[in-house]
Amino acid sequence: MPLETRQRLLRNRAKCLECSTIPESLHRHDFRSCKCGAVCVEGGLDYTKRMVRPGAQFEDLSEWFEVSADEVDLPLTVIIARRLFRILPGIRELDGQSPGLIQEDKP
Ligand SMILES: [Zn+2]
Repeated sequence: MPLETRQRLLRNRAKCLECSTIPESLHRHDFRSCKCGAVCVEGGLDYTKRMVRPGAQFEDLSEWFEVSADEVDLPLTVIIARRLFRILPGIRELDGQSPGLIQEDKP
C-alpha cells in the first residue's frame, strides 16, 4: 500500500496584476502588501490568506511540495534537512537513524 502523501507550502506569495509586485509572507503573522496595496498575503508556511481590493486581479504564485503522512507535522527545516542528507554525496549516518557528519575532503 503506498504511503499517503499531502501538500506542504514552500512559498506563500502572489503577484499583483495592477502593479506587478509580488508580496511574499515568510511566517504565520507576516502580513505583506504589494506596492499599490491592492493585494496582501499572510500565513507564512501555515496557510495562504489573501486580501484583495475589489476588482483587483492577482496571480497566486505559491509553491507546494508533497510530503508523506509522517512528515506532515514536522517543521519544514527538518523535512528539508532529511532530504538533503539523502541526496548529498559524502554524508554518512552514524547509527543508521540520525543524520551523520559531512565527510570533508583532506587536502
Ligand atoms: Zn499592486
